[in-house]
Amino acid sequence: MAEKKDYYEVLGIAKDASEKDIKSAYRKLAMKYHPDKSDAPDAEERFKELSEAYAVLSDTEKRQKYDQFGHAGINGQYSQEDLFKGVNFEDLLRGFGFGGGSGGDGIFDMFFGGGRGRGPARGRDLRYDVNLTLEQAATGLEMTIDVPRTETCPTCSGSGSKPGTKPTVCSACRGTGQVTRAQNTPFGQIVTSAACGKCGGRGQIITNPCSECSGTGRVRKNRKINIKIPQGVEDGQHLKLRGQGDAAGPSGESGDLYVVLNVMPHPQFQRQDSDLFLEAPISITQAALGADVEVPTLSGRAKIKVPAGTQTGSVFRLRGKGMPRMQGLGSGDLHVRVRVKTPAALTDRQKQLMEALAAEFGEKKRAPSEKEKSIIDKIVDEVKSAVQ
Ligand SMILES: [Zn+2]
Ligand SMILES: [Zn+2]
Repeated sequence: MAEKKDYYEVLGIAKDASEKDIKSAYRKLAMKYHPDKSDAPDAEERFKELSEAYAVLSDTEKRQKYDQFGHAGINGQYSQEDLFKGVNFEDLLRGFGFGGGSGGDGIFDMFFGGGRGRGPARGRDLRYDVNLTLEQAATGLEMTIDVPRTETCPTCSGSGSKPGTKPTVCSACRGTGQVTRAQNTPFGQIVTSAACGKCGGRGQIITNPCSECSGTGRVRKNRKINIKIPQGVEDGQHLKLRGQGDAAGPSGESGDLYVVLNVMPHPQFQRQDSDLFLEAPISITQAALGADVEVPTLSGRAKIKVPAGTQTGSVFRLRGKGMPRMQGLGSGDLHVRVRVKTPAALTDRQKQLMEALAAEFGEKKRAPSEKEKSIIDKIVDEVKSAVQ
């Protein structure tokens, strides 16, 4: 192997480079030489070189040793694992479109000897949708849902073997479920371990499969699950039920169940956070003279006091008649916007009254006729006697 390059040269920085300089030099070069991004034949080599230089120079103690003794201060002094300990490459490279995922992407596994995040498989997460009316969202409720999912086989308790029989120990991994592999890399020999291919990491081979589950240890079932929906939930929120998703098999962890809550639109009320909005029609006489007007709320009827001379678009607020807040901090308000309704079909008498009113407002081009005057006088007398 060629002589090892100077770490400062590898990163293209000065001997007195600051931590920030080191980091930005590494990020720039790592992006260029990441094997996922670069087709250069030596990309992987260069990337490892860069990462090692960064691991040493970003650590005060290792950098000091390197400055004093050169490669001799590092080589043989640290194991591969210790060399890279404390460097979160995935964090460093997040946002470049690689290495930031949760699974680890091989290149880092190689540095650390693999084995991260492996183990028995986990069951799938499931999604179940529930439709709620606005009233149900307001009060909260308990309900039973029927969820199709994969469960541990009851006949063999998930072992996959016919009851009374036993699986045999896997010969490939001697029952450990893991196979180790030594690999020569520029850093020396690295031992990686992986799940055994023959037994799928179980360490055992099923020779007499269970008849109910065909040796998988799992069966499909519709499971009734009680859920409690708190009051005040919003459209699109979900409940997470740990371990209620698909079973993984004999040794794995079950997935989670996500119950997604869809709050359906209401024909009358519009919702904005914990506030509700309602449009209520009022008559022209209620608008002109003022009145107590009954309006619907989510929990029965309520009254708003409409003062005389109210216009279309006026908003009245009913405190606490909105949606309950999820954290138990009371409720929002109901905002009632009134709309003055013009009567469309009048009786003869109502029409006479309207015309008399129009004359009174001076809206007629001519003076009121004798007949109209007598009607007005009659009405005024009627109203006076009614009010006294
Ligand atoms: Zn079974
Ligand atoms: Zn095996």
